[in-house]
Amino acid sequence: MYKITVIPGDGIGKEVMKPTLEILETTNISFDFINKEAGKDCYDKNKTNLPIDTIESCKNSDATLFGAVTSIPEQKSAIVTLRKELDLYINQRPIKSYSNPNINFTIIRENSEGLYSHLEEGNDSEVIALRKITNKGCERIINYAFNYAKKTNRKKVTAVHKANVLPITDGIFKNKFYEIAKNNKNILSDDYYIDATAMYLITNPEKFDVIVTTNLFGDILSDEGGGLLGTLGLIPSANIGDKTGLFEPVHGSAPDIAGLNKANPIAMILSSCLMLEYINKQTEADKIYEAVNKVIKENKIKTPDLGGNNNTTEITNEIMHNL
Ligand code: ATP
Repeated sequence: MYKITVIPGDGIGKEVMKPTLEILETTNISFDFINKEAGKDCYDKNKTNLPIDTIESCKNSDATLFGAVTSIPEQKSAIVTLRKELDLYINQRPIKSYSNPNINFTIIRENSEGLYSHLEEGNDSEVIALRKITNKGCERIINYAFNYAKKTNRKKVTAVHKANVLPITDGIFKNKFYEIAKNNKNILSDDYYIDATAMYLITNPEKFDVIVTTNLFGDILSDEGGGLLGTLGLIPSANIGDKTGLFEPVHGSAPDIAGLNKANPIAMILSSCLMLEYINKQTEADKIYEAVNKVIKENKIKTPDLGGNNNTTEITNEIMHNL
């Protein structure tokens, strides 16, 4: 029995979580789904966007499924806090186009330090944000990227940085990358600056196979990946640490379409497939991938972000039908 904390959140988070659980129920895996609160609705009710009880449940589960939450200015980001509390230092985001075979790469983003360390200070006239990079942080994420490349038969790992402008922080990152690359001779390695990468992802996406990068650069490149695919509604992500994992779509709570049954559930469904891979249920994950791929390839049942008029329920039913 796998203990899974389920945090639907708010906005479209709830709408994409429901079909995902329905699809997971079709597998023969035994799950104990534990529903927990976070986000705006939770804040309105409990005056906190992330109750301790939710954090504890995630810590004690095999994995967590997270929908999406709306940011609340007075509160620290629920997802950033969860990543920190659970020490989920890896953020893995596969970007795969179904129409352009040149777009098929995975971003491995460092998830625990960099510019997301909450180290900001200053006064009315001058403010500073600190970018924390550690040898340990670089080593564990870069090792993960090379191991991921081996496990998934990828050919190359590319380090993305800005070591010409940030020679100390990104110097550590780049040096560590080539030190680890030497021990992984079967995998090609190269590096690009973040600005060049932003351009090449559009002009020459075939250059990229596995990208490993620091926190903010990885966040920005992931949304660029959404742009390459035409929608954020197709991009899943895995947040992984040494003890547990949290799986969530890259998109946010999309208040503009919340409550309208228009959200594309595929990013959340694919995130649950990453969870299945994490708990070593590859066969079950592959079945769901196949059912989703069929819907996308057939190009008949499409939510509005994919250029169609179908709703969340209809695209879910089509995936269920394929299963
Ligand atoms: P956050 O700051 O939480 O990342 P955001 O407002 O920057 O949130 P999203 O909530 O991801 O970004 O929404 C960005 C745009 O993408 C919106 O127009 C939204 O409607 C659209 N969008 C996001 N996710 C989906 C989805 N699953 N299906 C359809 N459209 C989506």
